[in-house]
Amino acid sequence: PTAMQEVFLETPNIHWSDIGGQQHTKQRLQRAVTRPIRNQSSMQRLNLRTNRGVLLYGPPGCSKTLLAKALATESGLNFLAVKGAELVSTYVGESERAVREVFRKARAASPSIIFFDEFDSIASVRSGGGSSSPTGGSNLNILTTLLNEMDGFEQLRNVLIVAATNRPEILDPALLRPGRLDNLVYVGPPDVQARKEILRLWLKKSDAAEDVDVDLLAEMTEGYSGAEMVSICETAGGFAMDDEEVEQGSGEGEEEGGDGGGGVKIGMDHLR
Ligand code: ATP
Repeated sequence: PTAMQEVFLETPNIHWSDIGGQQHTKQRLQRAVTRPIRNQSSMQRLNLRTNRGVLLYGPPGCSKTLLAKALATESGLNFLAVKGAELVSTYVGESERAVREVFRKARAASPSIIFFDEFDSIASVRSGGGSSSPTGGSNLNILTTLLNEMDGFEQLRNVLIVAATNRPEILDPALLRPGRLDNLVYVGPPDVQARKEILRLWLKKSDAAEDVDVDLLAEMTEGYSGAEMVSICETAGGFAMDDEEVEQGSGEGEEEGGDGGGGVKIGMDHLR
């Protein structure tokens, strides 16, 4: 199988409102991308150039992917998602071909976003020449191909590059020059208010009891990532199902209270 099979054109259906917290980050992305797209004439009048690239950096599980998807939805852009490591092939020339193919697809689907997740695996300084590189330094060629594609001014006009990494410090600085990924946006872990929002968003979509104390849970989860918050909720949902099974097992045929089909709600006991 070639690397290209890993690239999908998606129509994400994530909106800003699906993401808890990150108010400041959403605003920055709106200003950098959504507003220019919606106000082309003002952009021309003010002699502003549209953004070509955004780098989202920060700890894992803190909504970089969600933000990129919401950016596409809210700006009316097609979305191509690529995981860096999936582009790396041991076959000579295959990785470069894969990179060019991603850009070709994105141009064909423009206006569009190419979302490079785990960007460091194809764009780090070290992956370049190092003899320790399992691919014998072929990542240097990936990097060159990336830069060439990004600098293809005319062709790239309607393709925005959004890259995500947990390790911005190892990226090749050439990628961050003006006109390339020159919008650096830090995406941090959720603060207490954001954790409340993430919990509320999740609980809204599930059968949760009235007694769930979102404020308390948010206080108790200092330092948790967005992904970890969701994982807590999902684990709690699993416990609720366990209880349901026990109840159904013991109460079979009794129809106590006549409340058949109600099921067990997610409660504080499950969330702790
Ligand atoms: P990685 O660096 O590991 O790729 P990421 O920063 O791209 O992570 P996401 O993939 O966006 O993180 O988030 C992972 C999951 O965590 C999301 O699918 C979602 O379920 C949940 N999540 C993270 N942050 C939030 C948030 N702010 N609001 C709602 N859900 C969130």
